[in-house]
Amino acid sequence: MKKISLLAIALLACSALSYGWGFFGHKVVHQLAIYGLPKQMQAFFYKHQDYLVQKSVRPDERRNDDPTEAPRHFIDIDVYGEDAVYTMPQAWEAAAARYSADTLVKYGIVPWHVVVMKERLTNAFKQQNADNILYYAADLGHYIADAHVPLHTTVNYDGQLTNQKGLHSLWESKVPEMHAKTYQLQNKKAVYLPDTEKAIWEVVRASHKLFPQVLEVEREATKGFTPETKYVTVERYGRQRQYYSDEFAAKYAELLGPTVAQRLEGSAEVIANFWYTCWVDGGKPDLDKLMENKLTKAEKRELKQEKKIWKKNQLFQQNKIIATQKQNNTAE
Ligand SMILES: [Zn+2]
Repeated sequence: MKKISLLAIALLACSALSYGWGFFGHKVVHQLAIYGLPKQMQAFFYKHQDYLVQKSVRPDERRNDDPTEAPRHFIDIDVYGEDAVYTMPQAWEAAAARYSADTLVKYGIVPWHVVVMKERLTNAFKQQNADNILYYAADLGHYIADAHVPLHTTVNYDGQLTNQKGLHSLWESKVPEMHAKTYQLQNKKAVYLPDTEKAIWEVVRASHKLFPQVLEVEREATKGFTPETKYVTVERYGRQRQYYSDEFAAKYAELLGPTVAQRLEGSAEVIANFWYTCWVDGGKPDLDKLMENKLTKAEKRELKQEKKIWKKNQLFQQNKIIATQKQNNTAE
């Protein structure tokens, strides 16, 4: 009996921790991705900016109701061996033939799920179905952003195997939320991806390459702290829980350098590339025709101004980031 309940607790802790980027990061990268789109796509996406920003976190919320959702957000690539990130077959069929589909699902399927979502978004463009375009664009963007997080590519996803528990939310939530004001994010303009499967695997490989640094920097930062200054203990739901202190997070962020900002920027860039590629592969439908209401003059002005600020790397500094404007940064 005791064993079962411990397992249940472990599973609960597990599912709570595999969230990607925190709500803040997901919202930021969807907003940035819109600025990187070509003109033919931009009015439609900008018109639905609020939807794409708010729904960027829907796949994380879905995990509460849908047991098949969790594995779509990560891949514990190191369970397959040290070099598996380079040797794992990129195509689902080949990977499943080598390891079995059940095993792949158990350790996470994010790159393969991105490919599935890419097809769905492409079909939505082909069918010129505005609701589906928005729905799949939001979901696809979420999984791409998750693949950019180093801790989404390892079985040691929370530092729990190296006595660094809590690393997950430190890296992907606390650090970006504390330091966003200093970030100068400017994703490049969207380009066509001739091979989207390869593109998402490159993202996973780049994320996994950063993983040792995520651990090392924590150890380095720890040198200047005692257990009392490194952590704060908070009571949640009647239980004492330990979190990294703000002071420690600040030191950790300083030693990490631009890594977190670069992964956010990269997420926005790759999301825009995928959205654009789906649109091209979907036959470049005229998105203006799919808009019930065109952009108003005021909205056009606003978009122009935001793009100018984006080009100057000043979105955070000039308070143009939607996720930082809202008082309560939770999902809606
Ligand atoms: Zn996620």
